[in-house]
Amino acid sequence: MLHFKTIGRIAATTSVLVAALYSQMFGALGPRSWSASVSANLAREMADPTMADPQIEAALQQISAHRIQANIEKLVSFGTRLTISAQDPASIGAGHGIGAAREWIKSEFERYSKDCGGCLEVKTDSFTEEPTERIPKTTEITNVYAVLKGTDAANAKRIVLVTGHYDSRNSDTLDVNGDAPGANDDGSGTAVSLECARVLSKMKFPATIVFLTVAGEEQGLNGSSHFAKMAKKEGWDLQAILNNDIVGGDKSAEQDHSVVRLFSEGVPAAATEQDLRRIRGLGGESDSSSRELARYVADVGRTYDAGVRPMLVFRLDRYLRGGDHYSFNQQGFAAVRFTELREDFHHQHQNVRTENGIEYGDTPKFVDYDYVAHVARLNAATLASLAAAPAPPANVHVLTKDLENDSTLTWEPSPGGLAAEYEVVWRATTSPEWEHAQKIGTATRATLKLSKDNVIFAVRAVDKAGHRSLPVVPVPER
Ligand SMILES: [Zn+2]
Repeated sequence: MLHFKTIGRIAATTSVLVAALYSQMFGALGPRSWSASVSANLAREMADPTMADPQIEAALQQISAHRIQANIEKLVSFGTRLTISAQDPASIGAGHGIGAAREWIKSEFERYSKDCGGCLEVKTDSFTEEPTERIPKTTEITNVYAVLKGTDAANAKRIVLVTGHYDSRNSDTLDVNGDAPGANDDGSGTAVSLECARVLSKMKFPATIVFLTVAGEEQGLNGSSHFAKMAKKEGWDLQAILNNDIVGGDKSAEQDHSVVRLFSEGVPAAATEQDLRRIRGLGGESDSSSRELARYVADVGRTYDAGVRPMLVFRLDRYLRGGDHYSFNQQGFAAVRFTELREDFHHQHQNVRTENGIEYGDTPKFVDYDYVAHVARLNAATLASLAAAPAPPANVHVLTKDLENDSTLTWEPSPGGLAAEYEVVWRATTSPEWEHAQKIGTATRATLKLSKDNVIFAVRAVDKAGHRSLPVVPVPER
C-alpha cells in the first residue's frame, strides 16, 4: 500500500506544466534553465507527495519488538555497563561489565553479517582516555560498529549513520560494581541500532550505512567524541547521524506512545564567524544541516507508517542534558536526537530500589518494546531513504547581483549520477517545515516568480524511483 504525504495537493496544474514545458523549450535562460510563472497561490498546489518505496515498507515489517526486547534484556543481564566497569577476560567470561556487553554487541553484528553473506564489516574503535573527573584512571573505551557498504562505487563514499550508547550508570557515575541496568538509557537506543542493522543488512543501497554503538556517553560523551573526530580527520562524507537516546517509551501514566521527540541544533556548533554573519543577515537560524535532517525525518514519518510520529523540537537538546549527537555537531556534521516524549527521572541514573512506594531504577519493566520498535522503524525508513537517494545537489546558490522580485537559483549536478531531476522547495520564513515543491527537471538553474526576500528556498535531487536527497539551502552569490 502506498502512503502519501499529507501536505500539499497532488499533481501540478496543467497551466503550470505548460509554462514549465514552454520555458524548458524556449526559455530565455537557455536549455539548462527553468523558469515559471509561479504565484504563491498556485504554488500551494504543486508540492508532490513523497511516495513510499515498497521495498522499504517491506523492510519495516521485519523490525521486531520481540528481538528488541531480547536485546535490551541481554544488555541488562551484564549487571552494569558503566564505562569504567570491568573489561578483563575473566569478567567478559562471566558476562559482567562493559567488556562483556561490548563483546556481545560485536557478536550480534557478526551474526547479522553471517546471515547476509558477510555484507557487514564489523569494526571497533578503541582508544585510551586519560583520567578526568568521571574517569578516575586511564581507561580503554571501545565503540562497536557495523558498516553496510554502498553498492555503487560513485555513491558508497556517502554515509548515513544510526547510533545509541551502550554504556549505563546508576546514581553514582563512579560505582563500578552496583547494578546499572540502563534498559531505557540507553539499552533502547543500542537496540535500535542493532535492529536497524539486522533488517537493513538484507537490502542493498547505493550509499553506505553505519550502525554504531558507543561507550563513554555517561562519563562525558567520550566515545562519540572520539568517533566524530575520527570521521572528520579521515574525511568521511557523513551526511546524517541519527542518535537514539532514551527511546524506551517509559510506561508512565502521562506518556504519549504515539510521539517521539526529535531535537536538532539551530545555529550550528561548528559555524564559523562568516557563517554566523550570514545566518544573522539572512535569518538562517533554523536552517542548519541538522535542522534539514530533522525536517527530512518528519517527511519520512508522513510517508511511512512507522507507528510513531516525530515531534520536531527546534533546540539542541533538553535543559541540563546533552547527548552524542552534539559530538557530531561539534565536528560540523548533521546530527539529531530521538528521545521519548515524557521521561521519568525516577527511572534514569538511579540505583534500583523502592523508596516511599516509588520504584527507582532503569529496569526493563518500564520499557514499551512496541514503542522502541516504532522508533526503530522511523530510523530504518530514514536511513534507507537517504541511502537510496541521490547525493544532494552541489554548490547551491541564489543570485543576488541585482535588485529584483524574481529569484534565480543555480546549482551543480548531484554527484554520483543518481539524480533524475531536481526540485526547488520553499517555505515562509515563519514556517517550520517546507511548504511547497516545484519540479525543475534536469536543469541546474531555475527562476521562480517569488521573492527570495520573503521565503526560504532549498534544492534537492530526486532519483527515478522518487527517493529524495536532503535539501540544500542556497548561499547568496553576487
Ligand atoms: Zn543516555
